[in-house]
Amino acid sequence: GATIGILGGGQLGRMLSVAAARLGFRSHVFEPAANPPAAHVADRVTTAGYDDAAALAAFAASVDVITYEFENIPTAALDLLEAAKPIRPNRRALAVSQDRIAEKDFLTGLGLSVAPYGAVDSLDDLHAALGRIGAPAILKTTRLGYDGKGQARLRTAEDAEAAFAAMGGAAAVLEGFVNFSHEVSVIAARGIDGAVACYDPGENVHRDGILHTTTVPARLSAAQRADAVLIAARILNALDYVGVMGVELFVTPQGLLVNEIAPRVHNSGHWTQNGCAVDQFEQHIRAVAGWPLGDGNRYADVVMENLIGDDVLRVPQIAGERNAALHLYGKAEARPGRKMGHVNRIKG
Ligand code: ATP
Ligand code: MG
Ligand code: MG
Repeated sequence: GATIGILGGGQLGRMLSVAAARLGFRSHVFEPAANPPAAHVADRVTTAGYDDAAALAAFAASVDVITYEFENIPTAALDLLEAAKPIRPNRRALAVSQDRIAEKDFLTGLGLSVAPYGAVDSLDDLHAALGRIGAPAILKTTRLGYDGKGQARLRTAEDAEAAFAAMGGAAAVLEGFVNFSHEVSVIAARGIDGAVACYDPGENVHRDGILHTTTVPARLSAAQRADAVLIAARILNALDYVGVMGVELFVTPQGLLVNEIAPRVHNSGHWTQNGCAVDQFEQHIRAVAGWPLGDGNRYADVVMENLIGDDVLRVPQIAGERNAALHLYGKAEARPGRKMGHVNRIKG
């Protein structure tokens, strides 16, 4: 059988490995950190850094197609890998999503709405952007941010210097603060044949900048629901995308704004494991392996709750709940803010 190469051995890589195995594939995970969550389920793990050309070459030689669980893979490593095997989703999807400014330029170029934004490389830039966008606003590093890290909120223009200092000299983008009623995301998939399938949008609640719950169905009108799916499809088609993508949206009275896109399976899509015949992980493996997309129709109402840090201490109680499906990542140490697992509660 074919072997799927997966860059990144965290919980997403682990659940991709499980899905690959279920479809009869082998998986080979490349991960710099020792003993990652995926190590217990993947057929093979390479522990090496992205600067190790020999390890990357050996990894690429051992697999049929390469995919990834995170978008911040160094460019030089991608160059090396791409010369050997197909990378799905493609490089353009990575380039666009690695940089918040490239991402917003791309989205607005498609005619989609995003928060007002401006590039900030200096304190002068920040004052100029604030003058144009106004406060409140959020300053974010353009690269490498996740779980709300690398962000500083500005309540008023007087917070400018502190916010700029918090970026530590990294390139940043100022975003106008969106007064959204709630947040939703669309988990969308596109196959090699160009077919697009979207899961029902989920409604997301964050706690301390980290996703806490996703609820399906989301509170959306029929028109908003159609809009959300059309936005996702437009993004996937424009990128000639292959695989699963997470599209985060803000719901406002003026319509849906795109917050950010993630060119991979997404935490807000974990509900699909217990709400659909084909979940986001299988859908992604199907797409990157060149299979037709599977049936992503939702057959249950689900609330996904992330188990973060000490939340994992509640596992014994949760294990006794009815209609609750636990998914644990096998991480030994429950540090604050660390995603240890999640539970999908089926509501009917
Ligand atoms: P993720 O873990 O989803 O990748 P991230 O670190 O990339 O997170 P964002 O998604 O940009 O960060 O922001 C995290 C959360 O902060 C959003 O889900 C939203 O709740 C809030 N937020 C971000 N940008 C804005 C904005 N412009 N206006 C209002 N709230 C915002
Ligand atoms: Mg993000
Ligand atoms: Mg986000």
